[in-house]
Amino acid sequence: MRITMVGTGYVGLVTGTCFANIGNEVTCLDVDETKIEKLNNGISPIYEPGLDELIAKNHKAGRLKFTTDKTEAYTHAEMIFICVGTPSDANGHADLKYVLAASEDIGRAIENAPGATGGDERERRGKVIVVKSTVPVGTNAKVRAAIASQTKKPFFMGSNPEFLKEGAAINDFNKPDRVVVGVADEGTGGRMRELYEPFVRNGHPIFVMDIPSAEMVKYAANAMLATKISFINEIAGLCEAYGSDVDEVWRGMTSDNRIGNKFLYPGLGYGGSCFPKDTLACVSMGSESGTPTPLLKAVHDVNQAQRPAFYKKMTDHFGPGGLKGKKIAVWGIAFKPGTDDVREAPAITLMQNLLADGATVVAHDPVAHETAHQIVGDTIGYSEKMYPTLEGADALLICTEWPEFKQPNFDKIKDLLNAPVIFDGRNLYRPEAMEAEGFTYVSVGRSPVKAG
Ligand code: NAD
Repeated sequence: MRITMVGTGYVGLVTGTCFANIGNEVTCLDVDETKIEKLNNGISPIYEPGLDELIAKNHKAGRLKFTTDKTEAYTHAEMIFICVGTPSDANGHADLKYVLAASEDIGRAIENAPGATGGDERERRGKVIVVKSTVPVGTNAKVRAAIASQTKKPFFMGSNPEFLKEGAAINDFNKPDRVVVGVADEGTGGRMRELYEPFVRNGHPIFVMDIPSAEMVKYAANAMLATKISFINEIAGLCEAYGSDVDEVWRGMTSDNRIGNKFLYPGLGYGGSCFPKDTLACVSMGSESGTPTPLLKAVHDVNQAQRPAFYKKMTDHFGPGGLKGKKIAVWGIAFKPGTDDVREAPAITLMQNLLADGATVVAHDPVAHETAHQIVGDTIGYSEKMYPTLEGADALLICTEWPEFKQPNFDKIKDLLNAPVIFDGRNLYRPEAMEAEGFTYVSVGRSPVKAG
């Protein structure tokens, strides 16, 4: 099939590359010239394991193209996937300005394309415009209207929420747990099935449903996952207040198979480009429709409280004004391991808090220095390697559970730090082990340990 991906971010680039990898002719369009230039020079603008190799292979084979030229991208495409960002606006609503701008571009392209009388047979079937961005229920209808405002020619609409996880995106897309497709007509449902069938040879389902339900599936899934994180963080807070150990509580609780043990890890709260904005978008859909969502509002509030609560442990340790002039080493900036995405990353908030309190910060992340620099610039120092970050620092703060941080050389850490103090926002180590190693160790939902 001839496919165009609109937006070459974490979703459009990965999914477009995977579509090309099974033989489709894919054009990735972006308005960001720097991104497209990088891609045309063989450089991926994002870090995603395995992506560079897959882009190179398919680009070389001529199945994967990158362009800023809308006419080139839209004219001959049979399917157009809208994958642009839908960030929160000032009121927590999903901001649809990028989606609607792309929709109008698409409408103009349909109007000017060869259409029903020209082009080849596949073009004459009419283009399918698929919304892959996460959008509030009802957006598909707005996209249809925006396209129709520019053309009288026929086109078809689809909704296809994306469930990939950054850091495991290629595998998630190639072997999805499920594919969800929303359509208003059988023909489009059939074309979407045809496209996705090679990805579900593992027997996993393609659910074809109405468009409003497909739009809601994505929000329901992300709201559930966000709820699990806020739930366990709230329990972790109670554990701290009552001297329970959240690891023991987790073990005892999750062995009930009605509960299960997935995605229930306490920490600094969720970040990234999806859970924060999608939870807020659910809350705003609720208030707009007169259907309050107090549970999801609380999920958001608990998450927002998690970072200041952890930061307070740092200020308590150093005492009033005590962070001024201190040097704090930070391991991990990305909002989770496996990605360079720092959108809504807890590390960014905590580092900004530290700077505001007069501390200096030196951070190490295996892949996220460039993206972090776009937000905090040179207000922090960046260390290419993990141990040199610690030299002369008054404490280590861990914000991302990258695998290489899980079993470090504790003697080396102690030698390099000014004082053996670790604030672990990801519960990477056991408090008893840290006590035996001689550290002051502060984590989440477990009693702190004091050195000496
Ligand atoms: P992103 O910000 O990484 O990428 C969006 C891209 O769209 C940018 O490169 C931008 O320049 C481009 N763009 C904006 N307007 C355009 C236009 N008119 N024409 C062409 N390109 C345009 O975003 P993302 O993380 O890939 O997310 C995209 C959507 O997918 C969002 O709605 C998000 O909620 C959803 N989603 C994201 C993930 C994830 O893990 N990142 C997972 C599932 C769903």
